[in-house]
Amino acid sequence: ILKVTHLNKFYGARQVLFDVNFTLHQGEVLTLLGPSGSGKSTLLRTLNGLEAFQAGTLTFNGQPVVADEAHWQKLRQKIGMVFQSYDLFPNLTVLENITLAPVKIQGRPAATVQAEALALLERVGLSAYAKAYPRELSGGQKQRIAIVRALALHPELMLFDEVTASLDPEMVRGVLEIIKQLSQEAAMTMIIVTHEMNFAAQIADRVLFLADGKIVEDTPGQQFFAQPQTKRAQEFLDSMD
Ligand code: ATP
Ligand code: MG
Repeated sequence: ILKVTHLNKFYGARQVLFDVNFTLHQGEVLTLLGPSGSGKSTLLRTLNGLEAFQAGTLTFNGQPVVADEAHWQKLRQKIGMVFQSYDLFPNLTVLENITLAPVKIQGRPAATVQAEALALLERVGLSAYAKAYPRELSGGQKQRIAIVRALALHPELMLFDEVTASLDPEMVRGVLEIIKQLSQEAAMTMIIVTHEMNFAAQIADRVLFLADGKIVEDTPGQQFFAQPQTKRAQEFLDSMD
């Protein structure tokens, strides 16, 4: 579904991604791990057109990605992204937050989108909050809404960047549970950046381990957590216990 070749990215004169290459297959769950500052967020943002890159190619569903904003706007309907900070629209209800883009941008019928949004809310256990405003929700609830909002666009690929990092511990599980369900029941293709190693070990088909802007390992999930191929990755795992 996604192919990245020889991707290089600079912030000004400073290079932060070095010759990144990988392929993501339909239905695959890739976790992107690595120390702070290794370039995980930058890579995800580049894959969603939120950051420009200076060299390399992206191919999505066999089509080369043209790096202009109009093309990215179309692609972002197929590539959903959820961040650490759930940026819901504060002046819209939960339901309006979810239905806005599918109706306004994708032009789908409001009634269909609304029915679907209610079903999604049911699935994440938040039907009672359809008419609530974001300020009335807990962090974990907001993050579940942010995931539902991304799903309402029917993405083919979901990118998650530390979606539980700013949550209280008791909120984390509910959010991770939803992501796990998405991978298992909906066979959603996703790239996940997380510091929750137990979760990563449960969900990852494959692990990309990034250090200093370079892919140091591209290893099947089970193998990575049992026995990583590099000392760098072993040290990283040891530091996470
Ligand atoms: P963390 O685990 O802390 O979230 P990360 O792996 O996501 O880290 P990035 O945020 O991608 O790391 O940052 C990679 C490098 O790029 C870092 O050295 C960071 O300082 C730098 N960087 C990130 N964003 C910018 C920016 N907007 N302008 C300049 N440099 C940036
Ligand atoms: Mg980051």
